[in-house]
Amino acid sequence: MTKNVRVRFAPSPTGPLHIGGVRTALFNYLFAKKHNGTFVLRIEDTDQNRYVEGAEEYIINALNWCNIPYDEGPGKNEKFGPYRQSERKDLYKAYAEELIATNNAYYAFDTAEALDLHRKEHEQNGKTFIYNWHNRLKLTNSLSLTPEEVQEKLAAGEDYVIRFKSPQDETLHLKDMVRGHIKIDTNILDDKVLFKSDGMPTYHLANIVDDHLMEISHVIRGEEWLPSLALHYQLYQAFGWEAPEFAHLPLILKPTGKGKLSKRDGDKLGFPVFPLEWIDPKTNDVSRGYKEDGYFADAVINFLAFLGWNPGTEQELFSVDELVDAFDIARVNKAGARFDPDKIKWFNHHYMQEQNNDELAETFKAQQKELNDIDVNYVAMVVNLIKERATFVSDLWDLSHFFFEAPKTYDEKAYKKAIKDDTKALLEELTTVINTVEDVTTETLQNAIKGWITAKEIGFGKVMMPLRLALVGALQGPDVFDIMFMIGKQESIKRIENLAATI
Ligand code: GLU
Repeated sequence: MTKNVRVRFAPSPTGPLHIGGVRTALFNYLFAKKHNGTFVLRIEDTDQNRYVEGAEEYIINALNWCNIPYDEGPGKNEKFGPYRQSERKDLYKAYAEELIATNNAYYAFDTAEALDLHRKEHEQNGKTFIYNWHNRLKLTNSLSLTPEEVQEKLAAGEDYVIRFKSPQDETLHLKDMVRGHIKIDTNILDDKVLFKSDGMPTYHLANIVDDHLMEISHVIRGEEWLPSLALHYQLYQAFGWEAPEFAHLPLILKPTGKGKLSKRDGDKLGFPVFPLEWIDPKTNDVSRGYKEDGYFADAVINFLAFLGWNPGTEQELFSVDELVDAFDIARVNKAGARFDPDKIKWFNHHYMQEQNNDELAETFKAQQKELNDIDVNYVAMVVNLIKERATFVSDLWDLSHFFFEAPKTYDEKAYKKAIKDDTKALLEELTTVINTVEDVTTETLQNAIKGWITAKEIGFGKVMMPLRLALVGALQGPDVFDIMFMIGKQESIKRIENLAATI
């Protein structure tokens, strides 16, 4: 890459960041880091009607939690700032006027009612109304009116918009890093609104002006923006600016593979579609987040990297740094990527194993009130023994409660299976065997008990099953001798006596 790579993530703060938005941010981040470039965050808040309180803060928190922080943006390295379009609003009008002066744009005074009428009339005739070369001279704008009429309307403060004058009979040749060469006939394009008389630019104008002023080299964004590419190309041409390169990322599909994953799918299908929990400021409705549901950021990122990209090898597990190394925009697919909530659990299970036991123990302790008075080192040792069976920290208690408290009940089926006529006598003898062990370790306990079983020719199941039931309350859990070592000799004996007393 010869040019200085500068990419941007440009969300509109209209609500919480959807998981698809995080994927867009991630691919921008990976591309920037891969090419020693800069990852910019720009807040596109020109549509004040859709502005949602707290959304910008949410976006920033989400990027930070995912470990893909921006290099430049609100409050950080503001050399191309401000990075909120609402704070840049005074600069856009001059650009819109420049396009009028160069005959690439025009004032349009058509009222909403008049346009509605045109739309309805076209519909009745089975046609679609498009404001463009085809009919613009029949409408109320600075191309159809005299310069005096235009001045009069402007002076009278009439509402207007500034529209782009899309050319007739031209073929545009667009390039996309994912989709290759795209050919567009300009006759099908409409004259998009660039600026409104309320003083605000539309997305298209603000986006192009800012990408230019912020020296963005590559625009990486979702496929839903592909239809805007033709206009954006033409805007660069009209301004005489060099266009950045574009990459449109594939859609993220529902788990069935049919249709786009929407913000509402999370509630419907039972998995989060947001990185962090979101509480709607108006309704107080809560939407689940991956973080609060117990996912590790590394798992979420690893999973998202594979939504539309693959490294071309069998390797599936990648840290963020490894992703940076492996990432190649040429390997981004065109086809939609199916969102598989089971796969993200699979990643979480893997990252659970990678976590440091002391840190997991702290989190586990904080979540489980029964652990309040338990030494964190003990909790960490327990975590080490059971985490291979856990996907979430919230799984740990069910897998480990017997390390902290004696069983209060016994699983009915397990009880029937483990308790035979001679069990009571065997358990009593077992307690004496355990009592003889002096230097208690997993091995000494195992040697003593197994030695006794072998010498007496009892059969392992006859002892090991009731022993496990006594310690755990069920026929589950990690190695029996590990459990005994952890809870100690006296507690083990007590639990065996408890079970024996029920027979
Ligand atoms: N503000 C647009 C959005 O919300 C940005 C699109 C783009 O990246 O050009 O997705």
